[in-house]
Amino acid sequence: MAVADSVAVVGAGPVGLIAALGLAQAGVPVTVIERESQIVASPRAITYHWSALEGLSRLGLLEEALGIGFAKQDYSFLNFATGEQINYSLGVLEGRAPFPFNLHLGQDRLAEIALRRLQQYPHAEVRWSTNVRELTQDGSGVALHAEGPEGPVDLRAGWVVGADGAASAVRKALGLEFEGITWPKRFIASNVRYDFSKHGYARTTFLIDSTYGAIIVKLDKGDLWRCTYSESLELAEESISERMPAYFDVILPGARDIEVDAFAAYRMHQRAAERFRVGRVLLAGDAAHATNPSGAYGLTSGLFDAFALYDALAAVARGDVDDTVLDRYAMERRRIFLEIVSPAAVETKRLIFDTTDPQQRDADLVRLRRLATEPDVLLERLMLTARMRSEPLVLAS
Ligand SMILES: Cc1cc2nc3c(=O)[nH]c(=O)nc-3n(C[C@H](O)[C@H](O)[C@H](O)COP(=O)(O)OP(=O)(O)OC[C@H]3O[C@@H](n4cnc5c(N)ncnc54)[C@H](O)[C@@H]3O)c2cc1C
Repeated sequence: MAVADSVAVVGAGPVGLIAALGLAQAGVPVTVIERESQIVASPRAITYHWSALEGLSRLGLLEEALGIGFAKQDYSFLNFATGEQINYSLGVLEGRAPFPFNLHLGQDRLAEIALRRLQQYPHAEVRWSTNVRELTQDGSGVALHAEGPEGPVDLRAGWVVGADGAASAVRKALGLEFEGITWPKRFIASNVRYDFSKHGYARTTFLIDSTYGAIIVKLDKGDLWRCTYSESLELAEESISERMPAYFDVILPGARDIEVDAFAAYRMHQRAAERFRVGRVLLAGDAAHATNPSGAYGLTSGLFDAFALYDALAAVARGDVDDTVLDRYAMERRRIFLEIVSPAAVETKRLIFDTTDPQQRDADLVRLRRLATEPDVLLERLMLTARMRSEPLVLAS
């Protein structure tokens, strides 16, 4: 068998590590290049939709991920103004999907599992504390120019995957626009040690309110919960922690001993790179597209990128197929983001955080109640995330 072309993956986030693992499993020499000295642990993704779990299972990651995190079927919308709770369950997927539940697990933990597996391959390497700054390419490969722990480093690979997040240096080096909008609000993701269920919150609650709206999710088997809420950009970022107790006083009235374990503030975007492929460089995950996280579609769609890309790129790197399959990857993943992922995330954000019109709110509630009472309506809604994945781009031989 011919020696496969090498691949460099920029970014040891979950998308980069999972794409790298898929490539390594397919026998492709792969180097992951990461700016930080370890996996970034700031509070971000926790929920992965049922439709992504087959892909994790195919890579051999699902069992361990479910052991550390947990499988979950129950979800709830809570109208803050009236206290109305609308519950629904993924149980309706039983018999229709191999994994009829969502996975809840911190994205850093998912990345750690992928990293441990990747490190078992002698042809896989991870270079930490190496910040990619520029790249140049020719007909046979790509040169990456980076700043390593001991000074400048030049690396060369046959192909490059830019999985270096929303501020992607790879995307910028390609001169690509990141087209779209940035929301004029600040989102605060807080990890809180406090049992929200004492106040009637379900393990995932979408708290609907134009002021106090939040996504509240139980994070682990103990009493760690995630509460993501929003505030005006006019408020000073430095004093978020001073304002936080007042917010919790409203949504958890009378609660004592709330312990904030970690929090981070984010700007949210709806953006996509103008192209996901330039020559021998491909973009995946947040480097290719960024969305607000209201529907938990960001990393879920990044995982679908990784699953589609590692298969296609491995086949190209081994010389099994020509590289037009990578154009199909680039066009298909961009189309799915723009036509399905981003509109769904915008609508979910509007519903939870932004609706001030009472008539619109009433119409939303009518629609949500049908999720709880009409299995076909619920099924149709749950199938949305199945439409976010791509059919295999390379047919199995
Ligand atoms: C509050 C919040 C909650 C969220 N919840 C969910 C959820 O529940 N479900 C979901 O699906 N999505 C969710 N998301 C979205 C999810 O976090 C992102 O989609 C995900 O992080 C994308 O992964 P990635 O690997 O593409 O990029 P990242 O996780 O951003 O990783 C990029 C990596 O590249 C590295 N890097 C950057 N620049 C360079 C460089 N120049 N050289 C080398 N390395 C570099 C970074 O250090 C980082 O390790 C949430 C986001 C937020 C903010």
